Amino acid sequence: MLTKSPRGTKDILPSEVYKWQYIEKKIAELCNNFGYSEIRLPVFEHTELFQRGVGDTTDIVQKEMYTFLDKSERSITLRPEGTAGVVRSYIENGMASLPQPIKLFYNITAYRYEKVQKGRYREFHQFGIEAFGAAGPTIDVEIISMINTFFSELGIGDVSLNINSIGCPKCRAEYNDKLIKYLTPNLNSLCHTCNSRFERNPLRIIDCKEETCKKVTVDAPSLTDNICEECSIHFDGLKDGLANLGISYKVDKNIVRGLDYYTKTVFEFVSDNIGAQGTVCGGGRYDGLIEACGGAPTPGIGFAIGIERLILVMESQGIEFPKSEGIDIFVATIGKKAEKYAQKLIYKLRKEGLSAQMDLMDRSLKAQMKYANKLGACYSIVLGDNEIDTNKAFLKNMDSGEQKEINLDTVIDRLKNIDI
Ligand SMILES: [Zn+2]
Ligand SMILES: [Zn+2]
Repeated sequence: MLTKSPRGTKDILPSEVYKWQYIEKKIAELCNNFGYSEIRLPVFEHTELFQRGVGDTTDIVQKEMYTFLDKSERSITLRPEGTAGVVRSYIENGMASLPQPIKLFYNITAYRYEKVQKGRYREFHQFGIEAFGAAGPTIDVEIISMINTFFSELGIGDVSLNINSIGCPKCRAEYNDKLIKYLTPNLNSLCHTCNSRFERNPLRIIDCKEETCKKVTVDAPSLTDNICEECSIHFDGLKDGLANLGISYKVDKNIVRGLDYYTKTVFEFVSDNIGAQGTVCGGGRYDGLIEACGGAPTPGIGFAIGIERLILVMESQGIEFPKSEGIDIFVATIGKKAEKYAQKLIYKLRKEGLSAQMDLMDRSLKAQMKYANKLGACYSIVLGDNEIDTNKAFLKNMDSGEQKEINLDTVIDRLKNIDI
């Protein structure tokens, strides 16, 4: 146990971390271009926030949260997602009094006690955005166009966009009655979970992945066909906006969200490359959430992307992640005098913004050169007593093998002027 990481966690080792750094850099660029500022929040929050903000009827809250009492007997939960914390912060920090909309992004770890499978961990990484204060469909379009840009920046193809409208509490109440009427004679054919959902949350039955349930719901009245005029105008605005930007989409009436504070726009980006469910990104509008969490009624919309799944998709599509490239110079040494000189030299080189290394393991010269190759050094220089006495040494281009005798005082200037 001592030397094994807990189930569902994964070390990101130096041999892999460049993929993450690449994606993080792309996220920062994307968010900057679209006007989203980063927000960094605590890893844990009061449990109540997630019960309210994620919803206590959800699987996340009922089965998957890492919840514990701290030493003062407060119920604390490791965040299972990003939105609730951002909403809490928006309210707590009075962001409603700033010019709206407030556009925020986060890039976090999150925690869910779930079945571990390929691309799914108990500690996972999520990039998401939340935008508060804008009620019209223009921002819905902006956010979808943002994800579209992100995928194309990363070179991801074969991703399709599905959208839907799930209406507002007003039209949903009317629809729920219709749905219950339709489902009542079919209760026996629904799975166990759906039977328990029937009273509390019939809308989620539409979303059930069980074949038997799918058979029943295929002819059920769709929420999308039963939304009110206001919701319908919003949905048309979304579709117009997407068409305006040339972003293709499909209306998928089966995308629903089971919680009251989700409203109007829902969307998913789906990839065929990662098996059954294939959702790479999910998002939507939640005009009731801020109020449900104790703030003034405020429209909001957001999305989240799981980074582990994103990397899976990229790898399955054969996308290359740019690797960081070696070091600028390796200073090899023979003898104590040279070692002391090298110690000072690489300190200077590093302060000048160059990446420099020397041997720290008492290697032979041959082993030092081998190590320099392993580090991917662009240049090397060998220092011994003679080089230090004469103040001259050979600067070697590790790629071409070409050597040039130089004055030792000029190493820094030379390296800075070579396009390494
Ligand atoms: Zn409505
Ligand atoms: Zn079911």
